Amino acid sequence: MKCGANRLERTGACGVNGIHIAKYYLHPFEEPCISFKNGSGTIFFTGCNLRCVFCQNYEVSRAKRGKALSAKELADIFKELEDRGAENISLVTPSHLTSYLLPAFELYKPKIPVVYNSSGYDDLKSLALIDPFIDIYLPDLKFVSPALSKRYTGREDYFEHAEQAIRFMAKKPLKMTTEGKMLSGLVVRHLVMPLGVKNAVDVLKWFKEALPETAYLSLMSQYTPFGEIENFPELKRPVTAREYNAVVQAAFDLNIERLFIQQRSSSGEKYIPAWDY
Ligand code: SF4
Repeated sequence: MKCGANRLERTGACGVNGIHIAKYYLHPFEEPCISFKNGSGTIFFTGCNLRCVFCQNYEVSRAKRGKALSAKELADIFKELEDRGAENISLVTPSHLTSYLLPAFELYKPKIPVVYNSSGYDDLKSLALIDPFIDIYLPDLKFVSPALSKRYTGREDYFEHAEQAIRFMAKKPLKMTTEGKMLSGLVVRHLVMPLGVKNAVDVLKWFKEALPETAYLSLMSQYTPFGEIENFPELKRPVTAREYNAVVQAAFDLNIERLFIQQRSSSGEKYIPAWDY
């Protein structure tokens, strides 16, 4: 890993040294083309290489929760979710674990699409290794400004990495069923933040200029004050309707046609999953 840790000996910046998960279940509330009818077979991995101060899954990203799994146990979960009717297998926060995920895919390659749901802070070499097992990319694009990413994650180079990673992900061809279930493709998510309209519009402009028309954009309104935000007064409130609507209008103005928008009632701690491990 680029943080320099030998994870055979200790944990790295991501907080783990192997596969740990906090929950797996059929998630009904992802974008409609992802959850579709039966729900997305979502697996939440412990640890994260980005460590946003406002993390909505704080206990999991900081490795305070989670159960260790072998590659075989993870492969069994792929199979179990598939048998329960999952529309796909969704790997949530997998970026720091690609080298551990490959053996699980070698043991069992799901017959349903596999979704890679990351922060966008991905390494191109790791992506190239896991890409043959991935059908759908579902990355965040959180920040364009290095100053903002430094403020909220400590990483000035977030956009530099995310931009390259998402351009790579955009090579996945778009395939949808006639009923609207995604089989292959790219959905870029942006969580609109308090005082975040300018950053969001910069994200939209980049999305429009850099990505092919086959890419989808998902504008999320569900920001909930959570995590290590004591020293960030602007983060202690939800996003207002005025802020979110301004970003949606900007997406319309830019003619972004493949667009998901979210009900503003989708925010609040009740939408943070109850962790199982
Ligand atoms: S919000 Fe996402 S990227 Fe940021 S720390 Fe949490 S899991 Fe990681």
